[in-house]
Amino acid sequence: MLSLLLYQNFSVLSISVLLTFLYYLIIIFENFIKMSSTKILIIEDEKDIVELLFYNLRKESFEVDFAYNGEEGLTKIRNNSYDLVILDLMLPGIGGFELCKILREDPKTSHTPIIMLTARTLESDKILGLELGADDYITKPFSFRELIARIKALLRRVNRKSKENIIKIGNLYINKDKYQVKIENKPIILTPLEFKILSFLAERKGKICSRKQIINEVWGEEGYANPKTIDVHIKRIRNKIEKDPANPVYIKTLRGVGYYIPEEV
Ligand code: CA
Repeated sequence: MLSLLLYQNFSVLSISVLLTFLYYLIIIFENFIKMSSTKILIIEDEKDIVELLFYNLRKESFEVDFAYNGEEGLTKIRNNSYDLVILDLMLPGIGGFELCKILREDPKTSHTPIIMLTARTLESDKILGLELGADDYITKPFSFRELIARIKALLRRVNRKSKENIIKIGNLYINKDKYQVKIENKPIILTPLEFKILSFLAERKGKICSRKQIINEVWGEEGYANPKTIDVHIKRIRNKIEKDPANPVYIKTLRGVGYYIPEEV
């Protein structure tokens, strides 16, 4: 009898421990999902469409937010950060075209992918939308599978592009989109020519680049530059990025051949 009671108490205790453990595991998992999920903002005045989009995007594990008009959408975008915006063209107040233009002109949102959503099918509207900076265009009524496929393709494109345009070598960081260079997190000011030379070498890490190749890349095939000019620019870049410019870590010289960034940096 006693052993049965003990056994029952033990079972209740172990079940409650197990449940507590599971509860925390779910919280950790939810937070992980939130951290890793892609955040999409829908700006659309037709509530039925918002509901449908919201439900289906959530089902695809996206984190979804929405706004029923342009002003509300703009406020949300300015106060949050989204990975993609689905933007309706015909909106009360600030319309889709105007909003797209505002987003593209703001440095904070100039790179946010935008898919325009609209009932219009006129070719001129599509072209105007794309010219204003929308990344894709889908007309109502749309197939949800097609929209999801386009969202995923656009996100893949953007991720690939942002990876291509950011180069990290040791403590050197180059953002080709923003013309930014940092060393140990400190911004470095390079002239446009210096920036081009450094990016060219960084993109070919481990490969020797001759002075001729650098001239062709930076000044163009038709351009003229004395190979000695390259040496001057390299010296200036070294002075800006190297701790000891006389013993460079990032830009090495192969005497008589050219320059390179070593594979092992
Ligand atoms: Ca509308």
